[in-house]
Amino acid sequence: MKIFNTLSKSKQEFVPLEENKVKMYVCGPTVYNFIHIGNARPMIVFDTVRRYFEYKGYDVNFVSNFTDVDDKIIKKAIEEGVTSDEVSKRFIAECKKDMEGMNIKPATKHPLATEEIDGMVEMIKTLIDQGFAYEKNGTVYYRTRKFEEYGKLSHKNLDDLRSGERSLLVTGEDEKEDALDFVLWKPKKEGEPFWVSPWSEGRPGWHIECSVMSKKYLGEQIDIHAGGEDLVFPHHENEIAQSEAANGKEFSRYWMHNAFLNIDNHKMSKSLGNFRTVREISEQYDLQVLRFFMLSAHYRSPLNFSADLMEASKSGLERIVNAADNLKFLMGNAKSDCMTEAEKELFAKTEEFVQGFERAMEDDFNTADAVAAVFELVKYTNTNTNQESSKEYLQMLLERLVKLTDVLGLIVNKEEDILDEEIEKLIEERQAARKAKDFKRADAIRDELLEKGIILKDTREGVQWKRA
Ligand code: AMP
Ligand code: ZN
Repeated sequence: MKIFNTLSKSKQEFVPLEENKVKMYVCGPTVYNFIHIGNARPMIVFDTVRRYFEYKGYDVNFVSNFTDVDDKIIKKAIEEGVTSDEVSKRFIAECKKDMEGMNIKPATKHPLATEEIDGMVEMIKTLIDQGFAYEKNGTVYYRTRKFEEYGKLSHKNLDDLRSGERSLLVTGEDEKEDALDFVLWKPKKEGEPFWVSPWSEGRPGWHIECSVMSKKYLGEQIDIHAGGEDLVFPHHENEIAQSEAANGKEFSRYWMHNAFLNIDNHKMSKSLGNFRTVREISEQYDLQVLRFFMLSAHYRSPLNFSADLMEASKSGLERIVNAADNLKFLMGNAKSDCMTEAEKELFAKTEEFVQGFERAMEDDFNTADAVAAVFELVKYTNTNTNQESSKEYLQMLLERLVKLTDVLGLIVNKEEDILDEEIEKLIEERQAARKAKDFKRADAIRDELLEKGIILKDTREGVQWKRA
């Protein structure tokens, strides 16, 4: 399996630290609002990476944090007159709802920055003891010049960066030793949440949070660290500087970064007002369509969000779901159970599509080509099944389709919560209860059905029902 590693700027064969295990950390969102569709891209992409490793039999320890202390959260809390804890808890819950809608598996662990402050204070102390950090007036800075490999991830010319940011140092207005030094701990301002530390009552810088949470839940060395490409510098560069200095060993073997999602060919940003939340999209589309849309491009290519592309994704997904529905329909009416010799041969030919799918995924998770392989399987299934097909053959084709689409997190074989016959039975029972004037029971049945997405309508011709 090949992964494009930002560290080496090349595709490298994946070799896990421990056989059959993957330790993976994905930087999560800052929770002060509903997540937008840009935030959804790394979530969907790296959930798919995880699913593919699991498909290959790896045991994946997947950690993704929520940044729940930050200037933007504090600002929002002040605007609303509530605590920042209330703001972050609310949007963590909303984010989890969106993740469920996009069929993103919950992480093995979702640590919260505010619950890991002790570990951060410890790592900062270690960095100070080793000369990698220094304190000035209650603020602790990382000494970037001391870490010789600083810049190895972002491949930037550090001298250019330094000269670009030198003005404050020259005038003596900045207390930092070097323009690229960054904050590990900062003192509180009036009204801000704070924690006690040896340096000041304050809070950690953003970068130290991920170094500490990754270490606590995955260990000092991990296989994959991932996030959007905007995180390469300074966030991930700084995480490397902190973790490798404190732990004395290489932090992550592979660094993966997704390209950005644009909207109508423009950068998506709040100031441009072209910003769309996942929740807004869910009002118009099943979020499976958003997931399918994200996976229709390679994760390292910029992707443009547009109404046309969403419509195309909707029909693409429908083609796959229809093929699965068709197989189920034929299975329900199949006249024979066991595969014939001819069917065995036909089924063996689908191996080719599985191989195409795996080849695409092994090549740095090329989901665009993997989706194309699924379409080939769909086409083959549609043309090589009919009313004469055996149940076993249809079942095997369905299982094959579901196995591949499940790697992509696409649900094509939705189990109905309740079968038609059960609904009819409950409706009859409700009619009988009404006749016997047991309205409590009649209402309870209506509610039970509603909970399962079944809407009843009493008409002159009798009770009609539909799935919501
Ligand atoms: P943030 O809450 O800004 O820290 O972002 C959370 C994650 O979303 C990070 O991995 C970002 O790189 C990623 N991200 C933010 N905006 C976009 C975008 N427009 N396209 C792709 N990824 C994004
Ligand atoms: Zn991070």
